[in-house]
Amino acid sequence: MARNRFFVEKIADEVLLTGDEYRHAKNVLRLGTGDEVTLLDGSGAEYSAIVVRSEKNALAVHVVGSAPSDREPRADVLLLIGALKGDKTELVVQKAVELGANKIGVFSSRYCAAYMSENKLERLNRVSREAAKQCMRARAPEVVCFSALGEALDAGAGYESKLFACEFLEKSEGEIGGNSSSYCLVVGSEGGFSEEEWALAKQKGYMGVSLGRRILRAETAAIALLAVVMERAGELK
Ligand code: SAH
Repeated sequence: MARNRFFVEKIADEVLLTGDEYRHAKNVLRLGTGDEVTLLDGSGAEYSAIVVRSEKNALAVHVVGSAPSDREPRADVLLLIGALKGDKTELVVQKAVELGANKIGVFSSRYCAAYMSENKLERLNRVSREAAKQCMRARAPEVVCFSALGEALDAGAGYESKLFACEFLEKSEGEIGGNSSSYCLVVGSEGGFSEEEWALAKQKGYMGVSLGRRILRAETAAIALLAVVMERAGELK
């Protein structure tokens, strides 16, 4: 499959690359007629295609074949992270996509200083798509936001293993098992969690995990926990 990868809404025999994907193809990669590309529709398949025409603000490509991707994680992982200041949430989204998260939720909580907006959410989804392409994934994990921690915790309800990274726990309440097929991970923002928030998570069935005796920055904690879970789930072999 060609290294230049593009997300499209829908696969057909002929597909038009437009908008951001067009600009990237045309202005950055300077692709033109005859060049090979890989198209992704988020289904988990990869489609090989060839540029057949250059139009005004669009490139027409012909699909010539398809194959299932072997790069998508088998474990289904939802990462819930408190909204972070500056571009730290973007950093977490980028790294989480690379490590194999399937979905990312950004929440507000008691000691959260940053806020989310439609624009920020759109930007985070763009970061997810770019990261997915760069690391050769076939799906760009969706980034969603929650206005309260409780709502975010509820989104983890169907997951087999629910882990809450709690900076004031002396030690983890149990092992991070490798036998689950789905995991929901919760990491706080710079301000951390309150005792009440930890109690709420416990009540909703989350297991408290410690990431050691040092207090990590939120972005370090999210990336470290995700890497540990992926390793346990057999994804880092
Ligand atoms: N402001 C807090 C630290 C927050 S760290 C304080 O001063 O104590 C941000 C988030 O990273 C935490 O809410 C937690 O989810 C995670 N985290 C950081 N260090 C951790 C640790 N040692 N164990 C578990 N979680 C940790």
